[in-house]
Amino acid sequence: MNINANSNFANIKETYLFSEIGARVRKYQEANPSASVIRLGIGDVTLPLNKVVVDAMTEAVAEMGVKETFRGYPPEYGYDFLRQAISDYYTRNGSSVPASDIFVSDGAKSDCGNFPDILGSNEILIPDPVYPVYLDSNTMNGNHINLVTGSADNGFTPSPSDITTGDKPYVIYICSPNNPTGAVYTRDGLKAWVDYALKTGSLIIFDAAYEAFITEDIPHSIFEIEGADQCAVEICSFSKFAGFTGTRCGWTVVPSGLDAGGVKLQKLWARRQATKFNGVNYPVQRGAQAALSVKGIEACMEAIDYYRNNAKMIADLMSKKGIWYTGGTNSPYIWLKCPNGMGGWEFFDMLLNEAQVVGTPGEGFGEAGAGFFRLTSFGSAEATAEAVARLDKLL
Ligand SMILES: *Cc1c(COP(=O)(O)O)cnc(C)c1O
Repeated sequence: MNINANSNFANIKETYLFSEIGARVRKYQEANPSASVIRLGIGDVTLPLNKVVVDAMTEAVAEMGVKETFRGYPPEYGYDFLRQAISDYYTRNGSSVPASDIFVSDGAKSDCGNFPDILGSNEILIPDPVYPVYLDSNTMNGNHINLVTGSADNGFTPSPSDITTGDKPYVIYICSPNNPTGAVYTRDGLKAWVDYALKTGSLIIFDAAYEAFITEDIPHSIFEIEGADQCAVEICSFSKFAGFTGTRCGWTVVPSGLDAGGVKLQKLWARRQATKFNGVNYPVQRGAQAALSVKGIEACMEAIDYYRNNAKMIADLMSKKGIWYTGGTNSPYIWLKCPNGMGGWEFFDMLLNEAQVVGTPGEGFGEAGAGFFRLTSFGSAEATAEAVARLDKLL
């Protein structure tokens, strides 16, 4: 054909992470057909939707089958009942976000990936290691990417003082609690980023997908920090909070005060969504609303407590073994430093061969992940306990 493809795609680094993990596990299982392999590399929830959510969705499906209550296209930015429920959720967590600043979507990944649509060419600042969506979506748009490095020294919560590419206006990505490192920014840590953004005229894109795992006195939202409504958007999701990874619902907060050179970002995001997105289906929005009810939050927290217990089992073992790690509390992830200076893949092979436990090498999340390893708490309690017992013998 005589058309031009987007040449920026050539700059996206191929990731063989999960296919390579799959290939190594398959090879091991073929050679050891009776071995019981435990997967602690799962990055997806495994518990089913709770009854509060299912009942609300079921009722909504029934409404769709009756002429009087049938609904067609949903409103582009989400039904008011859900935008209000999300706004109330912020109030409960101690910040103030008006419903009109909330844009419901089919998930945080879409919003992370789509947000560069409304921004021009900018310098991007991304932490390393990182959730690959931030990196790849900006590469697709041809943006120049600067990395700020996470390390054991900064506890994988890099601060503005770790920037090595100069102080200037950046589009800054922050994910807290973090995937893959499980690290969480304190109030002071987040304030440093908000102050930096206000000083330099930067925009923060804050990914709060794991906020529901927070147990300590740590911000659930960037909007708990004063001034964030002048410099930050927040992307959040029902995926990890309510088990919606297969059902799909999330939201983005674009404060009305965000002004990029005289242009209101909220206006652009509204236009972008209205043009390219036709909303989340009604039953799912009713399910999401139910998840944010008092009973719904209680039921969601039961599932999160289950994962938290798994995380604690793993974290306790790391503490016992004197292995350095982040996460384990306020997060479903444990990010550990491979013992004896091993590389992530070397450690992967050792766990697979000696304990039949599968995790994720840190190398898959960026150069700064080398020599680190991610274990997740999304397995069953029984499998996690068994894996911990095996690792207790091995490490
Ligand atoms: C799981 C996850 C999300 C949620 O994505 P959805 O598209 O809403 O399922 C967002 N950000 C990070 C870092 C995640 O790990």
